[in-house]
Amino acid sequence: MPYWVYENWTHKKAIIHSSECSYCKNGQGIHATSSKQNGEWHGEFEDIDSAFKKAENTGRDEIRTCKICSP
Ligand SMILES: [Zn+2]
Repeated sequence: MPYWVYENWTHKKAIIHSSECSYCKNGQGIHATSSKQNGEWHGEFEDIDSAFKKAENTGRDEIRTCKICSP
């Protein structure tokens, strides 16, 4: 299953989602039109390790998996 990373500039975090997550929707997000103001989707990644590396490379304060799709 592919993974995506949502980098949130406002809250200085990077969250890892699976592509099936309702918050992710294959990188579309829940607020597709306004999301560019707060952050950016990175993806897709073949596995969670690759997604984690990308998330760490953003250098954000908080890096974790999504509690909804990857508890
Ligand atoms: Zn999620």
